[in-house]
Amino acid sequence: MNERSGKDFWFRGHDTRFRPEDMNPTHWTKAIEQLIELRRKGIGLTNSTRYLEDYRTYLKVGRSDWKCKAGLLSLDILPDGRVTVCKEKPALCNIMDHHFLDYIRSNEFRRAAYKISEACEGCFYGEYREPYYALHEFSVFQEWVRDWLETSVMACDLKSGENSA
Ligand code: SF4
Repeated sequence: MNERSGKDFWFRGHDTRFRPEDMNPTHWTKAIEQLIELRRKGIGLTNSTRYLEDYRTYLKVGRSDWKCKAGLLSLDILPDGRVTVCKEKPALCNIMDHHFLDYIRSNEFRRAAYKISEACEGCFYGEYREPYYALHEFSVFQEWVRDWLETSVMACDLKSGENSA
């Protein structure tokens, strides 16, 4: 549980447990460099190189803000149909609402989403950051495509192994 909010959110810049406070900066710098190196080689990480680089910057300067597009690039739909721009924020509507589609396509909704993300201190939730990176940085898009191709090849290999067994 997050000590400040009492909620189960750990990916905020203000949460000390999101920072390796007890670790020597030289060590976490080295650890992140190694993660970035693994990512560049396409080994075992789903977070993009850009995400890891931003996390490294955050550890150095303590800032987790970014150009969040919550509500525009992503939405969270709760089991009861409520719709939020991200999992930390209050619901703005419900998919069961009669005017849901009109509202979600409206400038009113865009303004509300913008206001929420503008007021937010930032986070490191990959599910919101990574789509933004993939759309704005070609290198991240390339990483996504490479992951998809590798996963597809692995799935084909597994399937052909099953068929030949
Ligand atoms: S930065 Fe955006 S995605 Fe992250 S917590 Fe704030 S509103 Fe949500």
